[in-house]
Amino acid sequence: MTLIDKLGRSVSYLRLSVTDRCNLRCSYCVTKDFKYTPHPNILRYEEMLQLIDIAASLNVSKLRLTGGEPFVRLGFMDFVSSIVKSHEDMDLRITTNGTVLEQYVPELKRLGVSRLNISLDTLNKETFESITGCDYLEKVLSSISACLSAGIHIKINAVAMKGVNDHELGSFIEFAKENPVDFRFIEFMPMGQDTRWTDESFWGADEILEQSRQFATLTPIKRTAESRGPAQMFSIKGGKGKLGLISPVSSHFCATCNRLRITSDGNLRTCLFSDKSYRLREILRNPKLSDKHILQVLANATKDKPLGNNILQTRTGSEGVCGTQMSAIGG
Ligand code: SAM
Ligand code: SF4
Repeated sequence: MTLIDKLGRSVSYLRLSVTDRCNLRCSYCVTKDFKYTPHPNILRYEEMLQLIDIAASLNVSKLRLTGGEPFVRLGFMDFVSSIVKSHEDMDLRITTNGTVLEQYVPELKRLGVSRLNISLDTLNKETFESITGCDYLEKVLSSISACLSAGIHIKINAVAMKGVNDHELGSFIEFAKENPVDFRFIEFMPMGQDTRWTDESFWGADEILEQSRQFATLTPIKRTAESRGPAQMFSIKGGKGKLGLISPVSSHFCATCNRLRITSDGNLRTCLFSDKSYRLREILRNPKLSDKHILQVLANATKDKPLGNNILQTRTGSEGVCGTQMSAIGG
């Protein structure tokens, strides 16, 4: 059985958030009075493994672990190890802020986790602190170096924000020239009730591309079946790395969306922009129900997977496209 929706999109990619806790407070992601999910409502690792087994039986072949910050959850590396042991063929990736990653690089390498996304919105110490609330830029840069030395492929994701990091464009491109990384800008999305998103802060992909051409000769890289992700990638003449643009706001990629999300409290979301969710935790914890019931929910929910762009268009002004903030969804 394969997960297919009414529009013919087949789902092969699961993003699983292991925690809504984070050691940073990125201004575009968390709000001041965000309330953490109480511990008993967070899925145990065994429950997450059960969900991964079910997803794998439905031909989900790519799994991304995210958060909050996944590496701050106790026992996370054991969880990664269990996934690798029971799902050798799963394309396993992790999204992290890179602040506590360095110590885990040798173990990740040993386990064969060869691709990580690291979020980094600035190369400036003060700006880093003002975005995240913490003085951890050096820790992230050390983690990136450790990954590159270990041969782990790195994608760096920077949320593009006018008035915050747009003046660093030349430095970002220089960084991508000097390092073998995919440096990708993600358009700032208006997520959550108290989003800080405004028209003025929005730095769209077209504008970034035009401005980038002042700093480098860029050539678009053709998308292949393997690289059918949301980023439009560019090679940089004379550079070791590549530049990428992810444009969920200005030019949606809903038509080819192949993903489902499960939050750390066990809610299945079929679209990043929709708050409609399906409660899996109650099924997992009900002794009278079994994997069969979860499978059914996954299949039925997938059928109704919406087109996020339609949801985005219904919002007005600077309001959030959905009520849930990103740290509770996982990006
Ligand atoms: N803590 C990890 C990290 O920062 O990579 C994983 C979770 S974080 C929610 C996942 C991704 O969502 C990060 O790359 C982050 O930059 C991105 N993100 C969070 N809020 C966003 C927003 N409003 N617009 C665009 N991207 C956002
Ligand atoms: Fe934490 Fe990641 Fe959100 Fe920043 S983007 S607050 S690191 S979850």
